[in-house]
Amino acid sequence: MKLYCPECQSVYEDISLAQCPVDDAKLFMVEVAVEDPLIDAVIDGRFKIESKLGQGGMGAVYTGIQLSVGRKVAVKVLRDELSDRELALERFYRESKIISELTHPNIVRLVDFGQDRERDLLYLVMELVDGFNLGDMLERGRFKVAMALEVVYQVCGALTEPHARGVIHRDLKPDNLLVVPISDGTIQIKVLDFGIARALEGNAQLTATGMVCGTPQYMAPEQAQNQAIGPSTDLYALGVILYEMLSGAPPFHGQNSLQVMLQQIQRAPEPVSYTHLTLPTIYSV
Ligand code: ADP
Ligand code: MG
Repeated sequence: MKLYCPECQSVYEDISLAQCPVDDAKLFMVEVAVEDPLIDAVIDGRFKIESKLGQGGMGAVYTGIQLSVGRKVAVKVLRDELSDRELALERFYRESKIISELTHPNIVRLVDFGQDRERDLLYLVMELVDGFNLGDMLERGRFKVAMALEVVYQVCGALTEPHARGVIHRDLKPDNLLVVPISDGTIQIKVLDFGIARALEGNAQLTATGMVCGTPQYMAPEQAQNQAIGPSTDLYALGVILYEMLSGAPPFHGQNSLQVMLQQIQRAPEPVSYTHLTLPTIYSV
């Protein structure tokens, strides 16, 4: 037995839920998992959708096939229920343009992007990365120092290219990093989701709304205060990720986003060695 939200089509295993955590809509019991209408669909006549890989803030990501060459790809589809469609469209287009210009091997490669008019949806086609989400890995354990440093080293390398062009990622967090095991025992990191990145000299209107973008737990003080951001904003987030890999948890916690953001602004983190290192270190290179 599962619970189904007719509003956002999410399915929940936790049958004690009264309302949908996404949109507060009433939940209904269903016997079987509700089929995602995109599974087996051919988007724009060119990309066949196979299975769902993940869900993030801006859309769902699927595995698919680029029919012209028979190659496996990852397809990101813009979420439907977004309230401000034009802003979402603008962001989607911006993400596509930015990552289409980035060629660093540690940044996920963009294959194509476009619109399926028949289904009224936007899509972005990327190389399919066969790896593990760093956020999922961190739920299971800490990283040995050498592995944590290897991750940081590769993300630093990846950031050199966008930073040299004045592009800031703005939402670096474990969920946006994929870890690919290589057969020689090493790893390769892929940075994902330049969804809210923007060129420093880009469209000023985007920040004129006063909106703070990013994830509070990884947010640099200047970003939390909606002040001018720069390459160091991404490095701060990477520092938080390093802290989390070593200690098992990010430095600041709170009951809501505002509390976490205030701590980013006002407090220094406890040294990693003071934190309760209860989780096992299970990841090493
Ligand atoms: P969002 O903007 O919705 O956060 P992301 O690009 O971060 O979307 O993708 C959401 C999740 O889907 C990621 O955390 C990752 O696990 C998975 N994913 C995204 N892109 C790929 C890809 N190219 N290859 C494999 N998995 C991916
Ligand atoms: Mg993401």
